Amino acid sequence: MQTHTSPSTLNSALDEFGLIQRYFTFPTQHAVLGVGDDCALLSVPAQQTLAITSDMLIEGRHFFPDANARQLGHKALAVNLSDLAAMAAKPYAFTLALALPYMDEAWLADFSKGMIALAERYQCELIGGDTTRGPLAISITALGYLPLNQALRRDQAQIDDDIWVSGELGDARLALGLLRGEWAQELVLDTAQCAQTSTRLHQPQPRVELGLALRGIAHAAIDISDGLVSDLGHILSRSHCGAALYLSQLPASSTLACQSQSIRHHCILAGGDDYELCFTAPVGARDQLNALSQSLDLRLTRIGKIEAEMGLRLFDDETRHAPLLDMTQFRGFNHFAS
Ligand code: ADP
Ligand code: MG
Repeated sequence: MQTHTSPSTLNSALDEFGLIQRYFTFPTQHAVLGVGDDCALLSVPAQQTLAITSDMLIEGRHFFPDANARQLGHKALAVNLSDLAAMAAKPYAFTLALALPYMDEAWLADFSKGMIALAERYQCELIGGDTTRGPLAISITALGYLPLNQALRRDQAQIDDDIWVSGELGDARLALGLLRGEWAQELVLDTAQCAQTSTRLHQPQPRVELGLALRGIAHAAIDISDGLVSDLGHILSRSHCGAALYLSQLPASSTLACQSQSIRHHCILAGGDDYELCFTAPVGARDQLNALSQSLDLRLTRIGKIEAEMGLRLFDDETRHAPLLDMTQFRGFNHFAS
């Protein structure tokens, strides 16, 4: 967002309400009342429970000042839809709270397009929000629904469950490393691989269809926003159990597979921002999950096992002959870690 740092280039007749009207008001499909009043009005389908989640993106913290506005609009909603997916909730509606340093219509048009394209894909409609002047910050609250007893919670993993993960892990962290100039001498990437990797960071795909399909199959689930070790750790502590992970089975893209072992391990185990789903399921569900992987055309990989012994243990593979690695280096992202 270049113009964002050069306010003198901006000139617009739009005020706050014009801005909301032009970029954030759409006909509603399921809300009783959408943008424009003091509150939106929503009725929840019969026999369903609301699932509600909020995620904030702050310039300088979650994205760089020159972030592409369209991708930012997509990502701000995607991270929320990912939380709904991790709970097996069907996306329904969302609100948008936006702080903008100044009026920038070109930026707003792109931001809105990126966000609304994703919203339309999942029939998740914008029903309200708040707009204020301030350092660029985006906060979305998304609502979904699901039958109460079908939520995929973090506290329902069971001993001997398989641990599964969707897609491929670590590319978003690799892209962040590229942007930050980390590992500069070590990386092996061509231009096309750089672009693909960057898309994984800037335009994550929430696994909504998978989350819905896992109802009645998976026991526990979480989306990977802070890193596999860290996020799986939440399932383990909430479910009062431990796990073994098989390093050689962790799914990586062909690009990440070309990198050094230490970069691979770091990106796959501690890299955040992948927004894949990590879930546990009984051994008896393996065939069903392999079939689901085919029908969704989405890689689903069995990466470990839930165990009674607390803590997370890393093995090279299922034979468990390789030595354990030091886990402390893979704790993942934590905003208030010392
Ligand atoms: P109030 O002062 O009553 O809180 P506002 O003047 O802040 O209402 O907002 C007017 C209407 O526009 C409300 O319906 C609100 O939900 C909606 N709105 C404000 N900002 C946004 C936004 N960024 N995206 C979508 N709707 C918005
Ligand atoms: Mg009001």
